[in-house]
Amino acid sequence: MAYDRNNIFARILRSEIPCQKVYEDVHVLAFSDIRPQAPVHVLVIPKGEYVSLDDFAAKAPAAEQAAFVAAVGKVARQLGLTEAGYRVLANHGADAGQEVPHFHVHIFGGKRLGRMLPRE
Ligand code: AMP
Repeated sequence: MAYDRNNIFARILRSEIPCQKVYEDVHVLAFSDIRPQAPVHVLVIPKGEYVSLDDFAAKAPAAEQAAFVAAVGKVARQLGLTEAGYRVLANHGADAGQEVPHFHVHIFGGKRLGRMLPRE
């Protein structure tokens, strides 16, 4: 799948639409999810053009991948979630219901999060 430069997160990265920024460094931006599904719900995205986790894992240079993982840990720590716990989730493709075609991970926290997946 080709990267769509008009996806909503690409537009956030270009500051064409606003976000509630939580963290930023040279490789990564983190901001609050617009429809939070937990008391804390933050999205962490790389600044590079990657469609999904699969694309990022296959194409991103090792330094970008390492910076991304480090940033996820840093954001969770900054949000005060590390002691109580949090969940990190990435959706890739249709079965996972990925809505935005720019790689992102969700960080959820702030309450007991329950089962990893709902019962069928
Ligand atoms: P996914 O289903 O993993 O692709 O998740 C996409 C997430 O992006 C959803 O949780 C949306 O609520 C969130 N989202 C969509 N548009 C925005 C936006 N403009 N600002 C912040 N979060 C957004």
